[in-house]
Amino acid sequence: MPPLLDYPIQVSELEKIARLSPSPAVQRDPPRLGNANAAAACLVCGLPSARACAACGGVSYCGEAHQQVDARWHDLVCADLRANAEDAALVAKGLRNTLVATLVERIHRARIDDLASWDDLLEANIVGARRRLLTDLATRPLTLARALVDLGIPARAAQAGVLTIHVMAAAKREREVPAALWATLARLFPGTRFELTLVGPRLDDSPDPDPRPANSPVKLRARTGLYRRKLWSEFGRPDLIIGYHCGLHLYPSWEATILELRGSGVPFVITSYRSWEAAAEARLLTSVGVTQVRPPAPNPFASLACDRSSTIANDVSRDNAWVTVWR
Ligand SMILES: [Zn+2]
Ligand SMILES: [Zn+2]
Repeated sequence: MPPLLDYPIQVSELEKIARLSPSPAVQRDPPRLGNANAAAACLVCGLPSARACAACGGVSYCGEAHQQVDARWHDLVCADLRANAEDAALVAKGLRNTLVATLVERIHRARIDDLASWDDLLEANIVGARRRLLTDLATRPLTLARALVDLGIPARAAQAGVLTIHVMAAAKREREVPAALWATLARLFPGTRFELTLVGPRLDDSPDPDPRPANSPVKLRARTGLYRRKLWSEFGRPDLIIGYHCGLHLYPSWEATILELRGSGVPFVITSYRSWEAAAEARLLTSVGVTQVRPPAPNPFASLACDRSSTIANDVSRDNAWVTVWR
């Protein structure tokens, strides 16, 4: 994990983000700080033995003067950082398997046509950290399932009974989705088998530590490398390609892949953390002649949990917040 940037650089980054997606003003409570902590440094000046924001515990300051200096940025994320700390505390209790079982049970009862948002899967009494972590675990399979329905792909592939899905730019987070959750895809689309191949440059493609039985309706594979069309000869022509946060606008290495996918007839889904990232990726894809099937839109199956930036203290994002489809 890279360390925090120097504070003035963090501020200039936050100013850029604010220009791209202005946030509404947040009601400010009077500043409160906890006790001095020998291990904590002031976010603004770096002085040791700083005091944490009492509301979230997520950032520390040497005193109220520097808390006030940073208030413009911290107020925007204080509630998210508090939620983030609650989520981490729940994860530390080792409840992951229980949460996965909860999701599998809910998804087995659901019909994909009835699933328009998390509220259709999770009852209203599932709240707080538990609800956020459930959405964080299931955001990838359900974003994929929703895209398949929206594009009418299962109906078109019904005769073969097999859907071939390629996940490009797959990384640790995709690898960590429990196999039991990927397997729920076969329950959402009864009578369909899935061949799901994860491809990414830093992906661990050693055999799955949690292998599914040979007759599982969802076959999961991983391959280290950049996603290129030549993989189709090995893994089959996909019915759909999905890239979770592939950062098309960040990495020039995407260009060759995009030009191969352009006009291939296979739709591809892109997710992004923020509206302006989705917009930048849309401009890039349009500029090279890729056809937009669905414009960038908020994803009803975005994670409700926030991830904290490792370089900017007052910056958070949510997985799969925006989704767009291309062909
Ligand atoms: Zn300070
Ligand atoms: Zn705070």
